[in-house]
Amino acid sequence: MKKNITHGLWEATAPARPKLDSLQGDQKTDIAIIGGGYTGLSAALHLTKMGKESILLEAEDIGYGGAGRNVGLVNAGLWLMPEDLIQLVGPVYGEKLIRILGASADLVFGLIQEYGIECEALRNGTLHCADSRSGYKALQQREEQWLKRGAPVRLLEREEAAVATGSSSFYGALLDKRAGTVQPLSYAVGLAKAALKEGAKLYNHSPVTGFDKVSGGWKLSTPKGSLTAKSVIIAVQGYAEHAFKEYQKNLVPFNYFQFATSPLPEKVLKTVLPERQGAWDTNLILSSYRLDAAGRLVVGSVGMVEGFAWDIHENWVKRTIAKTFPQVGETSLDYGWYGRIAMTTNHIPRFHILDSSVAMVTSYNGRGIGPGTVFGKLLAEYMAGGSAENIPLPATKIDPVGFRNLRGLFYEAGARLYHFVQRRI
Ligand SMILES: Cc1cc2nc3c(=O)[nH]c(=O)nc-3n(C[C@H](O)[C@H](O)[C@H](O)COP(=O)(O)OP(=O)(O)OC[C@H]3O[C@@H](n4cnc5c(N)ncnc54)[C@H](O)[C@@H]3O)c2cc1C
Repeated sequence: MKKNITHGLWEATAPARPKLDSLQGDQKTDIAIIGGGYTGLSAALHLTKMGKESILLEAEDIGYGGAGRNVGLVNAGLWLMPEDLIQLVGPVYGEKLIRILGASADLVFGLIQEYGIECEALRNGTLHCADSRSGYKALQQREEQWLKRGAPVRLLEREEAAVATGSSSFYGALLDKRAGTVQPLSYAVGLAKAALKEGAKLYNHSPVTGFDKVSGGWKLSTPKGSLTAKSVIIAVQGYAEHAFKEYQKNLVPFNYFQFATSPLPEKVLKTVLPERQGAWDTNLILSSYRLDAAGRLVVGSVGMVEGFAWDIHENWVKRTIAKTFPQVGETSLDYGWYGRIAMTTNHIPRFHILDSSVAMVTSYNGRGIGPGTVFGKLLAEYMAGGSAENIPLPATKIDPVGFRNLRGLFYEAGARLYHFVQRRI
């Protein structure tokens, strides 16, 4: 087992990140972007394409945050069902958000094609699998609500779902043809290379440790230099650190781990997710299943794999593979890793304008590949002089989550207990 518990399999199979300098000396730009994940990189790419001057500062390296650790499901839309979303943000924002994020996979796969990004991209749809009768009913509602909006979704009955997943564990599955999968770190690296190709300036190992208002803009201090900018896009999500560490208080900490098997034999691969769709289930403590290009089965669920929790979750993964995909038989787990998902209490991302010249969209609630790429583009357009109304979220004040650590502990303890007891008999 290769224990790179932060980026695991993705680090091992992604192309080399572009070689970037760290920020040195005092520099100036029109628009500073903080964070080298999907949001920041998409903002840098789109600002440069619009002919706007910007500089991106990343604390560690490209894809260090959620972008380099996630499952790689390029979903269309948020977790919430369309009508729940409308209830929460109202019909005007709601329908706009549904439409824009429903099309987010188009932007992702469009950029992949335009820039020839090598990221194991597959657009065969995704499978949302019902692990109970109530889960199946929820999928029926989800199908109905998306069909009303013209989305190409289809609920597979039990037998069809068994063929599509290669497992008899599910009551049915919602196939969403808009969606697909990518190698998530490779996609981030590809976005960085695309931005560089367009002429963007990106710096890594440049944590913003100071963020001060100065005449005509903002001064961002890093260990070896400073950047003065007229406006700033903050794209730090769940990995907010240094000058932005306080922003972690606006999120519920929610960890998610993944383990990857050795490449499965060809014969077995024909029966496990044979169309290579990414899948996840309707359970409250959800599980995800996908294959990578080498034919490894990657299984994920809620929790962090540190200390003694490693064994609890690893053993659960072994039992889960044995029960859900018994045809896999004996296999070793080669990689295990986890990351922190930026969650909000109502599962809706937040749009904050801290000052007319500082904006951020944050907390994609585990759906950041499409939304991050889209909101990066929309933030770029806003900073290039567009209207805030083009961003399909109400601008709200930063609002720390009450009892966030307690909530985080609740998820973590609940996941450990669940994984300790589930599938033992
Ligand atoms: C385990 C896991 C599974 C997930 N699964 C999926 C999935 O299947 N599909 C999906 O769509 N989404 C998924 N997500 C969510 C998705 O990964 C995130 O929503 C997405 O990465 C957000 O992109 P981002 O660019 O906004 O933030 P991030 O990718 O988190 O990037 C933020 C960057 O900001 C940098 N930073 C922080 N502070 C500073 C500072 N002071 N100075 C400079 N830089 C700073 C960080 O180092 C980091 O690189 C998952 C997330 C995790 C963790």
